[in-house]
Amino acid sequence: MFIHQIPSFIPLVFPKLIWEGSHHPDEPNVYFTFDDGPCPEITNFVLDELNKYRAKATFFCIGKNMLDFPELTQQIIQSGHSIGNHTMHHGNAWKMDENAYLDQIQKCEEVIRRFGIQSIGFRPPYGRLKPSFYQKTKACKIIMWSILTGDYNVRLDPQHVISSCKKALKPGSILVFHDSMKAFPLLKIVLPVLLDYCNQQGLKPISL
Ligand SMILES: [Zn+2]
Repeated sequence: MFIHQIPSFIPLVFPKLIWEGSHHPDEPNVYFTFDDGPCPEITNFVLDELNKYRAKATFFCIGKNMLDFPELTQQIIQSGHSIGNHTMHHGNAWKMDENAYLDQIQKCEEVIRRFGIQSIGFRPPYGRLKPSFYQKTKACKIIMWSILTGDYNVRLDPQHVISSCKKALKPGSILVFHDSMKAFPLLKIVLPVLLDYCNQQGLKPISL
């Protein structure tokens, strides 16, 4: 079974990581986040859908993709969304030497700055971190999620994903999607429905 909602004990074990966005009773904000882009056509689709609902989101971009698609990166920024660091080449913290991993984060940070903006924080690819790295990054804002849509999992039924996400959605939720080729078959069905659902429920998607 695919677990869409993070078990409640996880944030208690890793309190330094951010699992939920800020929200206020008068402003029931939710946070749509998109990892692994930018990717031509798919990121464009996401930007169009967000625009239909005047929704703002956060894109955890891969540094190399930002360099490969600078105009698309500019488009994300100009549309008022924020950008976070997802390493230079989608590094896997469990398989890499720590210095090489930190270097990938640093390089991605430099790419983001070249676009004239500040990264809003770091999201580790695959959600993987080493405990030693976790100890070293006190100053680094590490943003996880509360709802994993599972859009990259081609075996999931879109209707199941939609109903699980609807059930889990609440003010402060951070949802993870992927603007990648692999996720697109599910993303293109799930994203418009969830944006519409938030609109109906008075939940406001904003950027982190
Ligand atoms: Zn990723």
